[in-house]
Amino acid sequence: MTWFSFAGRVWDRVEKTCLHLPIVLNTVLVFSITAEVSYLVLVEAPLQPDQKKTQWSTVWKTLHLLVQYFMFGNIIWNASLFLKTSPSIQGVFLGSEGMAQGWRFCYTCETHTPPRCSHCYDCKVCVLRRDHHCVFFGQCVGFRNYRYFLSCLLFMWTGLLYAVVMNAEVFIIILKEGVTLHSILLLLMPWIMLVSGQVTARAFAFAFIADTCVLGFLLVAAFLFFHLFLLLRGQTTREWYSIRRPYNLGLLGNLRHGLGTHWYICWLCPLIPSPLPGDGIHFQVTESLEPDPNRSR
Ligand SMILES: [Zn+2]
Ligand SMILES: [Zn+2]
Repeated sequence: MTWFSFAGRVWDRVEKTCLHLPIVLNTVLVFSITAEVSYLVLVEAPLQPDQKKTQWSTVWKTLHLLVQYFMFGNIIWNASLFLKTSPSIQGVFLGSEGMAQGWRFCYTCETHTPPRCSHCYDCKVCVLRRDHHCVFFGQCVGFRNYRYFLSCLLFMWTGLLYAVVMNAEVFIIILKEGVTLHSILLLLMPWIMLVSGQVTARAFAFAFIADTCVLGFLLVAAFLFFHLFLLLRGQTTREWYSIRRPYNLGLLGNLRHGLGTHWYICWLCPLIPSPLPGDGIHFQVTESLEPDPNRSR
């Protein structure tokens, strides 16, 4: 084996590991936050026993844990179904309408592709009704896995909102000592405080997770509301740049075509069947596909 082929192999391995890094990091964060919030509920931390004003009943604690694990289960389940459900054209019979309006030819896949389909250079394949390539999952969001993506986002948002509320006590405790350099650094840069030996590992863990919850909540909220807005408008992220909405079927029609026939309940659990009305190849057009020369964004 030459040095070059060995280096090539090592590079391939590093590239593959890097591709999975966001998924690994996200999984670690979801598990860590769930564990921390469960701990907060079970032992009513971070308050010391003598600081507690009230005691939570077993029923109340159980209720909290059930809600938490319902959201946690939905995040993991939807995420794994999202990853398992390929939105690509692989194994899909596209028909022979290559010259019809809206169809294009992909020189990489060497095939005619239907409207709203586009090539992903990360997934190295064309994706049906491609929305975008999600860097956090390392996979494209498209026609078949859109429902799981949106449900996962929804439960991440509710879960993080819950975690932020539960972690409010952590912020209160940190800020109780006043707005000092110590408290500000612990809130903004807990890592530095841990490395410099200014705080205990326990205080660091609480501050770090509380910070992550707030940042994660803001990030996920932006993603969720943007995608809900697009879903209601019957557009994909790529089509959002265009002023035209040729695939807009009205509010209910857009919800049905995005999430399936049981759109009103399917987001509650991935087990609930919700067949998609279309095939991801043919779309009902309600407006001209030609760009409007008089209007531009
Ligand atoms: Zn392609
Ligand atoms: Zn992709």
